[in-house]
Amino acid sequence: MSTGSPVGSHRVVSPAGSLPQAADRLDPDPEIADDEVRVSVERLNLDAASYRQLHTKHGGDGDAIRAEVLAIVAERGKMQNPVTGSGGMLIGTVDAVGPRSPLGLKPGQKIATLVSLTLTPLRITDRLERWDGRSEQVPAAGTAILFGRSIAAPIPDDMPEALALAVFDVCGAPALVRRVVSRRSHSGPTVAVLGAAGKSGSLSLAAAKDARAAKVVAVVRDQIEAAQMRRLGLADEIAVADATDPLQLSRAVNEALGGRGADVTVVCVDVPGCEHGAILATATGGTVVFFSMATSFPQAALGAEGLAADVEMLIGNGYVPGHADYALHLMNARPRLKELFTARVGKQD
Ligand code: NAP
Repeated sequence: MSTGSPVGSHRVVSPAGSLPQAADRLDPDPEIADDEVRVSVERLNLDAASYRQLHTKHGGDGDAIRAEVLAIVAERGKMQNPVTGSGGMLIGTVDAVGPRSPLGLKPGQKIATLVSLTLTPLRITDRLERWDGRSEQVPAAGTAILFGRSIAAPIPDDMPEALALAVFDVCGAPALVRRVVSRRSHSGPTVAVLGAAGKSGSLSLAAAKDARAAKVVAVVRDQIEAAQMRRLGLADEIAVADATDPLQLSRAVNEALGGRGADVTVVCVDVPGCEHGAILATATGGTVVFFSMATSFPQAALGAEGLAADVEMLIGNGYVPGHADYALHLMNARPRLKELFTARVGKQD
């Protein structure tokens, strides 16, 4: 058994010297190094921005989407959409554990990986034949590799696997929102969540409330989602706007907040082009959290400069200590949030 690098650099095929996330290709060989874990894959969760890009590109043709996912994994040794750069995560059963693995996992344990598919060596063995290509969640067979420095969480016994997978995929968002809102809690911050009816968006609403935001605005794209938000009961105000239309969006947020921008704006939309609206909708001195993988760094940086907007901008790191437990806690404490999530996951199956 070979000795691995905790960050997985020994799995990089090209370009030499890069870390797995930035690599073009990884070696997905199921043979593990002494600090690695092999997972028998059961289901992938494609990141929302990646799935939407594939869906749009292939006009919703499930066979073509499946063929492209298979081609990406075969070519790259990992599932990283070359256009969006994003991946997702997976659930499976621990199959083999190297003697020096620090992750504390045991063979037979059912887990979700909490590191991105963009850096997880992956081999698919069933040609994804149980997937019709029409959902973010992908029943799959194959093997995935975790490194010494990866993270994984056991699947809770009391939650359907598909639901747990969807929650874990976006669990970085509520944990970061809690941190950012708590930091400002002395001044009673207002929070606007864009894409509030989605998975990361609804969890972010719950986190903003939990962190005692003074006022929380759910920004959704139509009246159907607005009705869902009213039933959810986590937002003080509901605003309907296209998040890619900067003037419409900032007007809607300002109206909801009595003529001011939000102190914290959280971007949980899965389409590109929301940077300028998010910046315009944020008060001077406020913070924009870009959780969306469809965010463009130049659009955000140059847009803020061009608007002379003094706002702090954070990239939504998918990892915050305790993020998985916190997301499960929010979900279990709010039956209506669970219902919304379940409906969203069910719609994809
Ligand atoms: P989701 O459940 O699909 O939610 C996205 C929401 O945005 C949906 O409610 C969608 O409405 C709404 N939306 C789409 N276009 C809109 C527009 N023009 N105006 C207003 N709302 C619009 O997605 P998710 O799983 O929460 O993911 C959200 C983003 O986070 C994605 O970009 C994903 O890639 C990213 N992500 C980031 C990380 C990280 O570590 N930073 C991890 C996981 C995911 P409809 O349903 O009506 O389209």
